[in-house]
Amino acid sequence: MKRYQKMSRLYAPTLKEDPAEAELVSHKLLLRAGMIRKTAAGLYSYLPLAWRVISKVEDVIRDEMEGIGAQEMMVPIVTPAELWEQSHRLGAYGPELMRLKDRHERDFVLGPTHEETFTDLVRDELRSYKQLPVTLYQIQDKFRDERRPRFGLMRGREFIMKDAYSFSATQESLQECYDDEKAAYARIAERCGVKALPVVADSGQIGGDTSVEFMALADAGEAELVWCDCGFAADTEAATARIAVAEGEAGELERVHTPNAGTIADLSALLGVEESATRKALALVDGEGRPTVVFVPGDHEMNDCKAENAFGEYHLMTDEELREAGLVKGFIGPVGLPEGIRVCADEALRDSKWWLVGANLANYHYRHAQMGRDFTIPEWVDVVSAKEGDLCPKCGKPMHHARGIEVSQVFQLGTKYSESMGATFMDEDGVEKPFLMGCYGIGVSRMVSAIVEQHNDENGICWPVCVAPYEVEVVPLNVGDDLVWPEAQRVTDELSAADLEVLLDDRSERPGVKFADADLIGLPWQVILGKRGVKEGKAEVKCRATGERFDVPMDELVSWLS
Ligand code: ATP
Ligand code: MG
Ligand code: MG
Ligand code: MG
Repeated sequence: MKRYQKMSRLYAPTLKEDPAEAELVSHKLLLRAGMIRKTAAGLYSYLPLAWRVISKVEDVIRDEMEGIGAQEMMVPIVTPAELWEQSHRLGAYGPELMRLKDRHERDFVLGPTHEETFTDLVRDELRSYKQLPVTLYQIQDKFRDERRPRFGLMRGREFIMKDAYSFSATQESLQECYDDEKAAYARIAERCGVKALPVVADSGQIGGDTSVEFMALADAGEAELVWCDCGFAADTEAATARIAVAEGEAGELERVHTPNAGTIADLSALLGVEESATRKALALVDGEGRPTVVFVPGDHEMNDCKAENAFGEYHLMTDEELREAGLVKGFIGPVGLPEGIRVCADEALRDSKWWLVGANLANYHYRHAQMGRDFTIPEWVDVVSAKEGDLCPKCGKPMHHARGIEVSQVFQLGTKYSESMGATFMDEDGVEKPFLMGCYGIGVSRMVSAIVEQHNDENGICWPVCVAPYEVEVVPLNVGDDLVWPEAQRVTDELSAADLEVLLDDRSERPGVKFADADLIGLPWQVILGKRGVKEGKAEVKCRATGERFDVPMDELVSWLS
């Protein structure tokens, strides 16, 4: 027989009032329902109810990962700084990276992500193309010393992430791993009850994407996106950065164009040059003629990979190159960068006429810091981002603007880490080649915030069944009653024997208190047992999400709820 949980013993200190520190509904409700507590800024303890939800989200993830052949494992959170030196991220990652020393003065970092560790793990072990592809993942605490930890589990400093890394021999194989993860991520969000939109965080080759973020639509979300009825969706940075052109002289930036299509024709029209000239200019850095990059601000963590792999390193066109291409002086920004501010211009470009932009200033900052230069955003730099009504780059119709919570992201990393860290395999043709890698992250704890943001009402949380801490709460209105109480125990036993997860409110509280707590904690079903009903052999079953109530004969409860 399955066990059940007695409410009188449950460690879930509920609060009657909204805690002053919380702005977001999910933050408030998770605190009020006694599910989480703050230990310090950005550091939360998951109390028993929240931990059950976390486990259920993890179960969904594990199930989906198994379905695509990804293997679970675990690496240490503490990571030798040396590995991060090898990938050149130690300096570039910036203050989000928590650095520490051991007693022998050796340097370590707390893993904010684990590309380095996994690349190091396989580099001397996976030797042949015959062993590839391999996808490994873990579900683990991550640490990022976020500048503004806030909103409870939404942006913590320590948080739970599922992170996966794929190693492939060919681009086709990487594409397959990436597509599998992307499809699994869509299913994971759906199974967790989260409505999430896959948005392009970075578009690679025409028609494809190399990074997608899953955004749970929520007004409270920190991320912004634009979407179109035709199915196109992109984060505002990615959409904007397709081509945003700033025109004017340094110090008096007059206008910022944010046209919506990223074609070479649009670009040429903006620059006032022949298409062939634009092509040529683009060809200088990208043989495939993608409308991409002359200038890519380097940055921290994964964005770096995109910059360096998809587009090549930072490259400012020389005067000669510009002349050759028939272009005015300036530089061309990346197709998509995932976060930060969009418009930027360097001191070095003060005399340029054009800035084609799309930069992540935060990251740009790091790069400058690395080079020992100060970089502050010039006052005359405007910030642009895609907005309501901007035209869809795919179909040309006006797009909608929305806010979202980034619950997960998939990336094609290419050879960024394998190259810098010397992780190679022997290919079919007998040549040593660097692995083609992908990385795939889900914010497990953030997912819980997203679920609550999308499933609540004025009385509390309304957990979707699949991730609810328990499925049913049995609420006897009077535990002192010698009809009601034995019946409550019997019903609880019967339901738990039928594999339902039951919370029994065995407290001798007033019905009002019990109802309020039941709604606040938000289990999907409440089985309410009152004296009159019990006498008639009936229970009142309440659906938390819809508020509907049903009179259900006692002997039909199990089949009704199963
Ligand atoms: P954000 O843009 O919100 O800072 P990110 O792009 O830096 O997130 P990733 O590096 O893509 O995050 O990490 C994978 C996932 O981990 C994210 O999609 C998100 O769900 C989760 N995550 C990232 N940072 C945090 C955080 N501080 N607290 C909780 N979850 C986080
Ligand atoms: Mg971040
Ligand atoms: Mg992000
Ligand atoms: Mg991300």
